[in-house]
Amino acid sequence: MSRVLVLDATYEEVPAALDRVFAAFPLDLDGRRVLLKPNILGPYPPERHVNTAPEVVRALVERLRAMGATVTVGDNPGARGYGMVEKSAEVSGILEASMGAYRNISTDSVEKTLPGSGIKVSVSREVLETEVLISAPKFKTHVLTRITGAIKNSFGFVVGGQKTGLHRHLPDSRAFSEMLVDLYRLRLPDLVIMDGITGMEGNGPSGTSLYPVGKVLASYDGVALDTVMAAMMGMEPGRVDMLEYAASLELGETDLSRIEVVGEAGPLEKFRRPSSGIPQRVPHWVMETFYPHVDRPRFDVDNDACSGCGQCGEICPGTAITMKDGHPAYDYSSCLSCYCCMELCSEQAIELHDSLLTRFYRRIGII
Ligand code: SF4
Ligand code: SF4
Repeated sequence: MSRVLVLDATYEEVPAALDRVFAAFPLDLDGRRVLLKPNILGPYPPERHVNTAPEVVRALVERLRAMGATVTVGDNPGARGYGMVEKSAEVSGILEASMGAYRNISTDSVEKTLPGSGIKVSVSREVLETEVLISAPKFKTHVLTRITGAIKNSFGFVVGGQKTGLHRHLPDSRAFSEMLVDLYRLRLPDLVIMDGITGMEGNGPSGTSLYPVGKVLASYDGVALDTVMAAMMGMEPGRVDMLEYAASLELGETDLSRIEVVGEAGPLEKFRRPSSGIPQRVPHWVMETFYPHVDRPRFDVDNDACSGCGQCGEICPGTAITMKDGHPAYDYSSCLSCYCCMELCSEQAIELHDSLLTRFYRRIGII
C-alpha cells in the first residue's frame, strides 16, 4: 500500500515539516549525489507561485546537505531563448535559495527513446545519472492535462525548445499525458515533496488564481501523491489521463482506497478546476470524438498587459499566432489547442475565453 503524508504548513514551517517528511520516508543520503528538481516553469517571481517556492528549495538544500548529500538543484524551464534557463532560476528566487547548489542542467544531455510512443527526446544527463532524485513539484492545475504534479514535473527532464515540438507531435491531452508518464518512468523519483502551501486553481499552470492550500505533501510514490492532490482538487483521479495511464503501467497507486493518507486531505472548498479538458462523468469516447469539433479553445488578449515581446508567436507549435500592431493575432484554423501561448506569457496577458459549452459544463458541475 502506498502512503502519502499531508502536513499542515506555512512557508516558515517548512523546515519543521521536513523533519516529519524524512522521519516518515527515510533515505540514506550520506556521501550520495542528489538532484533536487523543483518545478521552474519560467522567469516568474516567487509571489506569482508558478514555480516551487524558494523557501521550500532552501530548506531542502539545507536538510539534504545536513544528511551528508552532495546536492544539485536544476530544471529545464518551458521558457525559450538564450539564457532563459539561468534567468528563470534567478527570477524565481531559486538560484539564491540553492546556496551554490544550482546548476544549468540543460548543457549536457542524452538522447533517449521514450517507451510507448517511441519519440526521441534529449534528456538532461544529470537526471539519468544522479544517484538520488528528489522531485519538488507544485500543487497546481493545468489547462491541458488538468493537474501539474509529480508526474508532470518530469517534463523538465527535456532540454531546450524541444518541449514545444512535443506539443506539435502530441496535440491532444491523452497523447501528451502518456508522453509525460513515459518521461516520468525514465527516472522515477526516490522521493516527492510537494509545495502545496500556496497552490494554483483555475487555468494553471501559470494563472493568476491562487489557493491557500496550506499543505506540504510527500510520498515515495509520485503517482499516489498526484492522485491525492487530484482528489483534493475535486477531480476523479480516474478521469485524469496521466493517472489512468500510469495506473495501467503499474507505476504507482491511483486507487484512493489503497492509499494510506496520513493527515487531512479532504476536497478543498470552492476549488476552481480548469475550464478546459474532459468534463468528468462524460464518457471519454464521446469527448474525444466530438469535443475538438465543437469546443476549440479561444483566447482573449489583454493588450494593456501585453508587452509585445512576441514570445507567444515564437513558441506556438501550430504557427497560429502572428504579431499585429504589436500584439498577438490568432488564426484558429492552425491552433493545436496546446495552451502554450497562455502558459508561457510572462505578462499573463492571455486568458482562455470560456465557450458557451464550458460555461454550461461549469454551471452543471461536470468540470
Ligand atoms: S501576449 Fe504575452 S507572450 Fe504574447 S506578445 Fe504579449 S506579452 Fe508577449
Ligand atoms: S495558438 Fe496557443 S494554443 Fe494554439 S497552438 Fe499556438 S500556442 Fe498552442
